[in-house]
Amino acid sequence: MNRDAFTTTPWQDGFNIRIPEKATVNAPFDVIIIGAGITGITTGLQLQQAGKKCLILEAHTVCFGTSAATTAHLNTVLDTTYPELIKKFGANNALLIAQGARKAIQLIRNHIGQYQIDCDFEEKTGYLYARNEKEDSELEKILEGMLTVGIDAAPSFTTPVPIPFTTAIRFPDQAQFHPLKYLSALIDQFLEAGGTIREATMVEQVEEKDGLQEVSSTTGQYRATDIVYATHIPPGVNLLHFRCAPYRSYVLGIRLEDDSYPDALAYDLEEPYHYFRTARHQGAPLLIAGGCDHKTGHEDNTEQVFRELEAYARTYFRIHSLPYRWSSQYYEPADGLPYIGLLPGNNDHVYVATGYSGNGMIFGTLAGRILSDLITGHYSPYADLLAPSRIKPVAGFANFIKENADVVKHFIGDRLSVKSLDVFAALGPGEGSVIQYDGESIAAYKDEQGKLFTLDPVCPHAGCLVQWNNAERSWDCPCHGSRFDVNGSVLNGPAQKALQPLGGV
Ligand SMILES: Cc1cc2nc3c(=O)[nH]c(=O)nc-3n(C[C@H](O)[C@H](O)[C@H](O)COP(=O)(O)OP(=O)(O)OC[C@H]3O[C@@H](n4cnc5c(N)ncnc54)[C@H](O)[C@@H]3O)c2cc1C
Repeated sequence: MNRDAFTTTPWQDGFNIRIPEKATVNAPFDVIIIGAGITGITTGLQLQQAGKKCLILEAHTVCFGTSAATTAHLNTVLDTTYPELIKKFGANNALLIAQGARKAIQLIRNHIGQYQIDCDFEEKTGYLYARNEKEDSELEKILEGMLTVGIDAAPSFTTPVPIPFTTAIRFPDQAQFHPLKYLSALIDQFLEAGGTIREATMVEQVEEKDGLQEVSSTTGQYRATDIVYATHIPPGVNLLHFRCAPYRSYVLGIRLEDDSYPDALAYDLEEPYHYFRTARHQGAPLLIAGGCDHKTGHEDNTEQVFRELEAYARTYFRIHSLPYRWSSQYYEPADGLPYIGLLPGNNDHVYVATGYSGNGMIFGTLAGRILSDLITGHYSPYADLLAPSRIKPVAGFANFIKENADVVKHFIGDRLSVKSLDVFAALGPGEGSVIQYDGESIAAYKDEQGKLFTLDPVCPHAGCLVQWNNAERSWDCPCHGSRFDVNGSVLNGPAQKALQPLGGV
């Protein structure tokens, strides 16, 4: 299976999801869902089963985005801690989020039971551990917050990983699964219920016409009453691009010399953090070690990040081999909660779900339930709390300003700091860089055979300069996280247009 990157995840390896071709559909749909990751597929299934006629449009192939690159922990303990949620949104709302996370795991469990899905689902206990005094006191507050919102948690004198710690807590009722086995089964159910999926269909525009939403795409036009952007981040330029910051996160799939695979989920409190779990893959255990996150396009050498993660893992585990390594993208919301509901600046028929941080298996599943409730006219207890139009100036203000400052810096500053012409000649095979040539900035990549690919480095989304990601061989925009392959084609939005080619050499 393909995904939006050069590296391969264990989930994709040897796994295929085939979508049967259907005749062109001209009649209007009830709902068109744009994007076939966990959000789009779950939302499509919920709505189709609620009696809505649904079409899912996917720019590439199903699960091309982060859903094929997740590490697939199913947590009620989220990236935004409960003390933070209580402080920003109040104890009742934090409780609602904890219940939502539980509901999401239950919905996944129900799907697995109802459709007999064999997707390596396992219930696990989670461990969070501190490694110094500062983290000890942070952990104490986290535990207090968890107990306030009714999460079963307690101090622990052990962790499942051979990493020294000062204090630790344990919390049962977490889980893990194989994301593509799960989503593939949901796709089967969606199709069986009468839903339609069209791959290789990049949506370029949505306009209201004659009371319907008209979708223009690379395979033609489609119409529906309601639209859902399940694209991880909505395309185009929208308020949400200033409320969500794109991050890259790194993962290794490791075979160990010995049997010290953790039988639980383990997370530290470092900034950026590390985490560990074990998957069963091709008949043997595979240690999944992740972390080392950074803002997209803000790391000069992404290969080096993999090396750092590997060095960290080697410090504590006896590594036999490293069959997998990959990175992928997520979006950090300004105030710590996702944006699920009507897309600001549009009419009452255009919905979105984004800003999940590293909890998109949970929030993508919950979004399916929330959006289905909203579109079918049912009450959702999450509608106001997660509304994308919510104004939380106190909660998100610091981040909001920071993200904007970043945009301005890259918008103006990048053009002054590009590297010299020497780099153009010095590019090694498989390397890329933004260079200055004849007064122009050029995104240049040299393939293994020495062929040079040159692109205009100005991201068509908001005009920032892209940066080379050497690990995934992509051009990444540091402002809003758009990513492009070496030919300039869009890998991740919000950009909808390709980087312009300047010709090969
Ligand atoms: C390394 C990593 C590890 C993670 N681990 C976890 C974890 O353990 N647990 C957890 O809960 N979460 C985790 N997450 C987060 C989670 O994986 C994501 O939030 C989730 O997969 C997002 O799903 P999605 O369906 O919203 O987006 P995606 O899976 O990215 O799907 C969006 C789809 O939309 C398509 N698309 C985009 N634009 C268009 C367009 N214009 N027209 C048509 N189609 C379009 C894309 O091609 C893509 O297929 C992790 C994230 C990362 C990066």
